[in-house]
Amino acid sequence: MNCPFCAGQGTVYASEDRFAVTSDSKLIADESTVSYCPRCGCFYRERRAAQPERIEKVYSEYDLYAPSGRGEARVAFDVSADGIPKSVRELDFLSRFADVPQKGRILDYGCNHGLFLRAFLERYPEWEGTGADIEERYRQSFAGHLPASARYCCLPHEEPGSGFDIICCSHVLEHLPEPAAALRDMASRLAPGGILFIQAVNPLLNPFFHVIFEQHHHFTPAGLRHVLELCGLHLRCINTDWIGKEIAVIAARGPAAGDVCSGLDMEATALQVGRHAESVRAVMAALARIAGSGTPVGIFGASIMGTWMASRLEGLVQCFVDENTALQGGRHLGLPVVPPDKAPAGLPLLCAMPEHMARKLLRRLGEVCPGVLIAPPFSSTPLGGSEGTSHED
Ligand SMILES: [Zn+2]
Repeated sequence: MNCPFCAGQGTVYASEDRFAVTSDSKLIADESTVSYCPRCGCFYRERRAAQPERIEKVYSEYDLYAPSGRGEARVAFDVSADGIPKSVRELDFLSRFADVPQKGRILDYGCNHGLFLRAFLERYPEWEGTGADIEERYRQSFAGHLPASARYCCLPHEEPGSGFDIICCSHVLEHLPEPAAALRDMASRLAPGGILFIQAVNPLLNPFFHVIFEQHHHFTPAGLRHVLELCGLHLRCINTDWIGKEIAVIAARGPAAGDVCSGLDMEATALQVGRHAESVRAVMAALARIAGSGTPVGIFGASIMGTWMASRLEGLVQCFVDENTALQGGRHLGLPVVPPDKAPAGLPLLCAMPEHMARKLLRRLGEVCPGVLIAPPFSSTPLGGSEGTSHED
């Protein structure tokens, strides 16, 4: 399949032949290939079979990011702390980098239950809020969270309107089959001088983004700028460290007013993508080797990557270890979730996170945890059999 943005030939990043994981951490059978277009800086998924019904089913059964265990994802500055609600952190970004006036109209495109909009209207009570999403079932919880003046709009049957001063689009672009068309649509709904506030996963900070089943596209920071420009928008501001593993963008209609984003280099991006693809291959090879060896293991991290790893180690995983107190004592995929200090002594624990994060975890918890923490690509003892691949960030 060719790149949906430029019709050019991409290169294969990773291929999945068994299971993927939904955004709310459920396993789902999947066969798909994720490719990268070096010209556009974007990833796109090709599915072996058309499966719109299966994707629709995933959305209709969606739990709000289940691993947080609290109804809303928390920002993990320190995974041992609770952090602050994500909607508040997003709002802080918007308040700091955009000039939000006293009054205006805001559309939250892909509003879910309306938690961001609620936080926004609490801070800016004179604004008029509209939330739009594709699920009728959000209408009731939206009404429960928000003031009566806020309107819920079920797409595509109901028209959200136009003339918005802010359109928020948080973790939506990845899920859309045609993100460019959606961006053009959003651009057309902006009032003169209005801004688009986008949040998206940063695939450069997590090589394993591709395991998420229902996401069609991923954008590197350089790729997101490129696609915005294709859609007649320009960047006012882009940030990759406000919320971990995410890109936050403020864009507006019209041509660029100057280069606010030096460092978004397509060539450097392609090199980094190549290194990530290599580390994904190394991890997949190591998991296959461990599965073949029959060694019992535990998985550190009961989130999306941990779920995906467990699917490749069927029958060998004894438990999940997680620092999230909301998950401890419960079960995930039928297995117990225990805190780090209660991990079985000597059990190899595969860290389900990018290598640089696992290295930090090893330094922080190596002494506390009775299990043996192992960072990706999982080639070290006691699992044996080093492949000799070197991996640097
Ligand atoms: Zn392309």
